Amino acid sequence: MYDIIVLGAGPAGSYLAHKAARLGYNVVVLERQARVGGKTCCTGIISKECHDMLAPDRSLTLRQASSANLFAPSGKSVRVHRDNIQAHIIDRPALDYTLATKAQEEGAQYLLSVNAKDISIGKGSVQVKASAHDRPQAFEARVVAITTGFGSKLPQRLGLGDINHFALGAQVEVASSGIDEVEVFLDQELAPGFFAWLVPTSGNKAKVGLLSQHSPHVYLEILLSKLQRQGKIIPAEADISHSGIPLKPLPKTYGDRVIVIGDAAGQVKPTTGGGIYYGLLCAEIAANTLHQAFMADDLSAKQLSRYQKEWHKRLGKELKIDYWARRFYEKLDNQQIDHIFHIIKSNGIHESILASPDVSFDWHSNVILDAIKHKSLQRVVQRFNIITPLTNSAAKRHRRKDE
Ligand SMILES: Cc1cc2nc3c(=O)[nH]c(=O)nc-3n(C[C@H](O)[C@H](O)[C@H](O)COP(=O)(O)OP(=O)(O)OC[C@H]3O[C@@H](n4cnc5c(N)ncnc54)[C@H](O)[C@@H]3O)c2cc1C
Repeated sequence: MYDIIVLGAGPAGSYLAHKAARLGYNVVVLERQARVGGKTCCTGIISKECHDMLAPDRSLTLRQASSANLFAPSGKSVRVHRDNIQAHIIDRPALDYTLATKAQEEGAQYLLSVNAKDISIGKGSVQVKASAHDRPQAFEARVVAITTGFGSKLPQRLGLGDINHFALGAQVEVASSGIDEVEVFLDQELAPGFFAWLVPTSGNKAKVGLLSQHSPHVYLEILLSKLQRQGKIIPAEADISHSGIPLKPLPKTYGDRVIVIGDAAGQVKPTTGGGIYYGLLCAEIAANTLHQAFMADDLSAKQLSRYQKEWHKRLGKELKIDYWARRFYEKLDNQQIDHIFHIIKSNGIHESILASPDVSFDWHSNVILDAIKHKSLQRVVQRFNIITPLTNSAAKRHRRKDE
């Protein structure tokens, strides 16, 4: 019997496998694909903070970024720039492969072409029923970690709830002409509810993609035509990849002998959809929680609930405020987005935000709170007659005074 079965060899699964194997546990990772990192749909932008967490792997970086151009629907843009490196654009399949190799070096076993179908939790163990190379096979361990990424129904089947708000993404790699800065397009007609991007990777290659509430492939075709007309990319046949992104966390990320991490747990920034860093952070928390649980010989839901407490402490405020910002953005039409760009540019709000020590690629809540404190932006928000995180905290302060 294994100590830990990890379901899925994405960043969250392999990071957990690495940490747990290093602590001396007998870990097996079951991956449904025939190759680790074989099929990914990800732009691969991570913060410097996240990159530093993966410190020795400088070879993963395709390009570094210290700036980006944000485009309003009108075509007007705001350039955000800082003097130091803000993000790394990495080779995402290579990240998965590298993390898996590190886990294997610590003793974790990887079984490929094994698709986990069902989990049954017993008194002294957990059983995973899988299809291994198209044949049924069962695996037994003391605990199971679900790191199956977006859209997995395994947590729901175990009664851990479901994620009901998500974005759909589509992306393609193309040849670009002279693009050396990340471009982000905020336009409800190009990417309803979300945004689109053109991200230079290596040589003259770039990733073009978007997130939207529905039909991302249709919007991607429109975006590609637009970028071709603008001479930014060179037309060519290329494979489009698709995936979804959870925008809310799973209600319960633990149970008896089970823990859920990464996209499967909804540990993703609701503002940008970036999930690599939060997945790694939560995998580290999960490894520590499991270690404590093994030491206490207690793998009950009560003991493993510490994992959720810990990751909520780390990410909870961030996810709530970012989610508020996401919902607010979804309500805007293109005219309103243009208006907000105008306010930001004419009042130099982006410059004062960029000068603030609060600015961070991974942590957006303070910037959101700072931005909506600006009088001119406050007026825009008030027009929607919605509760903001500011009104929420003001109300809490009042309540405390009354008590
Ligand atoms: C278009 C797009 C662009 C993105 N760009 C970025 C970005 O620039 N930066 C960023 O931080 N994030 C980005 N993301 C999000 C990022 O890709 C995810 O947050 C991240 O991959 C989540 O990692 P994970 O390990 O939780 O899941 P995944 O990476 O999805 O890994 C899950 C693994 O589990 C395997 N699996 C699934 N089901 C089973 C099963 N039943 N049995 C066995 N194996 C199974 C899968 O094959 C996969 O290998 C993007 C997402 C999209 C859609």
